[in-house]
Amino acid sequence: MNNLVCARKVAWPSLYVMSGAYHQLLNATIGHLESLKQRGVRYVDVSPESLSRLAKPITKKTAVTPRGQAVPKVVQQRTDEQSVYNLSKVPADEKESAMAKLRDEALACAKCEHLVATRTQVVFGVGSVHADLMFVGEAPGLDEDGEGEPFVGAAGQLLTRIIQATGLDRDQVYIANILKCRPDTPGKSFGNRKPRPQEMETCFPWGKRQIEIIQPKVIVALGGTAVEGLLGKMPSGITRLRGNWQAYREVPVMPTFHPSYLLRNQSWVIKRHVWEDMMQVMERLGMHISDKQHGYFQRK
Ligand code: URA
Repeated sequence: MNNLVCARKVAWPSLYVMSGAYHQLLNATIGHLESLKQRGVRYVDVSPESLSRLAKPITKKTAVTPRGQAVPKVVQQRTDEQSVYNLSKVPADEKESAMAKLRDEALACAKCEHLVATRTQVVFGVGSVHADLMFVGEAPGLDEDGEGEPFVGAAGQLLTRIIQATGLDRDQVYIANILKCRPDTPGKSFGNRKPRPQEMETCFPWGKRQIEIIQPKVIVALGGTAVEGLLGKMPSGITRLRGNWQAYREVPVMPTFHPSYLLRNQSWVIKRHVWEDMMQVMERLGMHISDKQHGYFQRK
């Protein structure tokens, strides 16, 4: 146990810049140690050489805010550096186990101290690891934080209806968020806030790995924040981007409005826009679109 504790303490230097790969490796190590701990393991073997290497300070300093948080220089750029999560594609028969392992690691994630302090749980993702279609939202809200599943509140129920309108069921697609923890709302006991660019950047390796495991044929990005989280800062907003194919690495991305925007704005035009975006997705996936489906939200 001492070594477990020792490894955690040494590996948590908040005042230093660490590369994405370092963060991911660190996280994988912490996830592994946490899961060992959960299984009752109290000691791990660590060689004296490893211990002394762990104890060495990391020397590259970065700017520090008045609150003492490290500020990485670049927070918006999506990097695809070689990392433990940048593995080659996962064979179909290994997807379930790869996702289960990733989930175990993510559930123990403690990269954002402020979110760890306020979350009920990490909201990892749900659905089929063999899905052709993946939906990516913004961040869990109150309902999702409580249930541990993305899109279960009012916006989630609407998303489920949108999925069903295509002829698919919720369990045939995969649903995740850019940010896996509910954003905190300091000083407020209700409401949600958008994830910050740095939070999205920090959390993105989990989503990136989810995409690598699933290898979806299409990703639907729900709302401007999801687009930004996936693709980085874009020159235009969701109103212009929606309906226009983008790409995350080699995966086609369809940006569309977030279901909570639809809930706030009940206009037929907006509903039709989202439905047209979904029909583009269906076409891309080779799904049949019936005459009835073509006519959804068409003004008579
Ligand atoms: N909004 C999101 O973006 N994600 C959820 O999981 C719920 C609401």
